[in-house]
Amino acid sequence: MNFKKHIYTFSSLFILFFSVIVFYEWIFDKRLFFTVNENSSTTKVNTALLFLFSTLALLSRKYLKKNIHIIILASLICFISTFTLLEYLLNFNFLLDNFLVQDTISNTNPGRMSVATAICFLLFSIGLFSLTRTNKHSIKKLQILFFFAPAFAFFNVIAFILRVPLDENISFFKTMSIHTSIGFLIISYLLIFDNTFYNLKKFYFSDLQGSIILRKSVPITIIFPLLLGFSILKLIQNGMLNHETGIVLFTLVLMLSSFIIFLVASVKFNKVDYAKKKLTQNILNKNIELSYYKNALDKVASVTFIDENGIIKYTNTNFCNLSKYSKKEVLGKKCNFLFSEQQNNPLLPSIIKIISKEGIWNGEIKKINKDGNPYWTNTAIVPLQKNSNINEFMCIEMDITTEKKATELLASKYVETLQQKNQELQQFSYIASHDLQEPLRTINSFSKFLYDNYADQLDGTAKTLFSYIKQATHRMSKLIKNLLEYSKIEHHKKPKKVNCNTLIEEIKLDFHFIIQQKKVIITYDNLPVIHAYKSMLRMLFQNLINNAIKFSKKDSPPVIEIHSVKQKNSWLFSIKDNGIGIKKEFHDKIFSIFQRLHSGKKKYKGTGIGLAHCKKIIHLHGGELWVESKLNEGSTFYFTIPNLK
Ligand code: ADP
Repeated sequence: MNFKKHIYTFSSLFILFFSVIVFYEWIFDKRLFFTVNENSSTTKVNTALLFLFSTLALLSRKYLKKNIHIIILASLICFISTFTLLEYLLNFNFLLDNFLVQDTISNTNPGRMSVATAICFLLFSIGLFSLTRTNKHSIKKLQILFFFAPAFAFFNVIAFILRVPLDENISFFKTMSIHTSIGFLIISYLLIFDNTFYNLKKFYFSDLQGSIILRKSVPITIIFPLLLGFSILKLIQNGMLNHETGIVLFTLVLMLSSFIIFLVASVKFNKVDYAKKKLTQNILNKNIELSYYKNALDKVASVTFIDENGIIKYTNTNFCNLSKYSKKEVLGKKCNFLFSEQQNNPLLPSIIKIISKEGIWNGEIKKINKDGNPYWTNTAIVPLQKNSNINEFMCIEMDITTEKKATELLASKYVETLQQKNQELQQFSYIASHDLQEPLRTINSFSKFLYDNYADQLDGTAKTLFSYIKQATHRMSKLIKNLLEYSKIEHHKKPKKVNCNTLIEEIKLDFHFIIQQKKVIITYDNLPVIHAYKSMLRMLFQNLINNAIKFSKKDSPPVIEIHSVKQKNSWLFSIKDNGIGIKKEFHDKIFSIFQRLHSGKKKYKGTGIGLAHCKKIIHLHGGELWVESKLNEGSTFYFTIPNLK
C-alpha cells in the first residue's frame, strides 16, 4: 500500500512539474523539452493548464472533504475542451487559444490543443465528475465514458513507438504530442487510483480466475505484439523484409501466440471448472447429509436460534407444539417471556460464561407455555460463532415434563409416607418406653419387697439371682429412659443463639469429676455463636465428649480437641480424640440405634443409643454427622450445622 502511495505522489508531482515546465517554455519562449520539435506536435499552454487543473482536482480530493473544488475544476476542464472542439467544428476562433500566451511557432491553429487532446480532456472531466456522484449506476456509466481517454492516449503512444506513418484520415491522432499522451496515461492512472473506481479495481485485482487471467494476459497481449510489430517494421525499413512478408509474418506469429494464450487459459478454466463441479457435488452431498440431521433433530427436539441480545431468530415446529406459540408470535421477540423465572434464562452471564468456556451448557429449564402452564425441558445451548465472536446460540430442547411431574409426585408421596412412618415410630417408641416403665417399676419394687422380707430364708444362690434381677432391671430402666429421650427429640422450639464456648465450659463442669480422675485434656479454639436448639446441641457435645473419654486408651490420658471452620452456608465442627479408634467397616454402623462395638466387654459401659441420638439432633438442624477413624489411632467426629435464623 505504501508503495502505491509513493507512486501516486510521484506521478502527481511529475504532472505538476510537467505543466510548470510547459508554462515556462511558452511564457519565456524557451524551447527546452516539450515545445522543441517543429515537425512533430508540441504540448500547448492550454493543455498544460488543463493538466494542472486535473492534478489539482485529484490532489484536492485527497486532502479536502468537500467536492466543490472538483466540480469547479472539472467544469473548467470541460468548458475549455468543449470550446476548443467547437472551434474545430465551427472553424471559428473564440480567442481561447492564445488567451494566456501567444503561440508563434505552430503553423496551423496556433495555441490550440489538438482535437484528440480536447476529446481526451472532455472525457477526463467526465471521469472527474463521476467522483462527485453517489448513484452507483451513473458512476459506472460516466467511468465507462472516461475510459476512452486513456485508450486514445495509449493508441497514440503505440503509434509513436511504432512510428506509424499516419495518413491524413487519422491525422487527428498525429496532432497529440507524445508528452501529452504520456501525461494523459499518468493522470488517468491517478484517477483510477481513486476509490470510486472500485468496480474496475475489484474486477482487475480480484482473485477470481477471469481477473487472474486478465492480469497475466496484459503484458503478453500488449508488450509482445508491440515488440513484434516494432521488430518487423525495423526489418522492413532495413530492407531485410518486404511489406507483404512482414504482414504475413506478423499475422502468423500473432495467431500462434493468441492460440497458445487461449489454450493455456482454456486448460486453466477447465481445471477450475472441474474443481468447481467437484465442490458443488460435495456441497450437495453435505447438504443432503445436513438435511437428514435437521429432519432427525426436528422430529425429536425443539430447536431455537437466539441472537446475543436474546432475540429469537428461528424456531422449528416442535418448539411451537411445545410452547403453544406460533412462529409468528415468537420470531423477532426477546426470549425472556418463555421462562418461568429469571434464573432459567439461557442468556444469564453465568450460563454465557460456561458456554464460552466449555462450548456448551446443559441443564433443565422450567418454561411457561402460551396457556400459562409450566413445562420442563432438558436443554443444550451451543454457541454459533462468526469471526471468532459468539453472535448466536442454538438451543436444543427435549420435553421432560412428564418425567419431571412423575418424579415430583413420587418424591412428595415418599416424603408424606416417610413423615407418617416417622410419626408412627415416634409414637410407638414413646408409648413403648413410657408404658414399659410401669411393669418394670413393679418388678423392681416387688423383687425388693421379696428380698427385704424374705432375705433370711434365701440361700446364697437365690441372693445372687436377686442381684442379677436388680442389675438387669436397672439396665432396662436406663435403656427405656434413653429410648424415651430419643423419641422426644423434636424441634418444637425455635432455634436460638448458642455460644459454643460457654456450652463446652458448662459440659466441662458437668464432667468435672471424671476429667480429674482420668486427667482428661479438652482444648477448643474460638468457637462460634450459632443458631441452634440449645438443649439438643448440648446433648450432642455431651455425647461426643463422653464417648471420647469413655473409649480412651488405657495407658494414655484422653486428649480432646474441638475445632470449628466457617463454610459457605454452615459451620463445620470436629471433635478429635486419641482413643481406641474404630475400624473402617463400623464407621456407618455405630450411628444406628443400639449398635455397640463393645457390648460383650464390661469396660465400656453404655446402651448404644448415644450416636443415634447425635445423628438425629444433627438431622434436625439440617446438617450431617460422620466419623473418620482408624483402629488404635483415635477418632475424629465431624458435623455440620447450617446457618439457621
Ligand atoms: P454407647 O457409647 O452407649 O456404646 P454410642 O452410640 O454412643 O453408644 O456409640 C456406639 C459405639 O460407637 C460405641 O459402643 C463405640 O464402640 C463406638 N464409639 C463411639 N464413640 C467412640 C469413640 N470416640 N472412640 C471409639 N469408639 C467409639
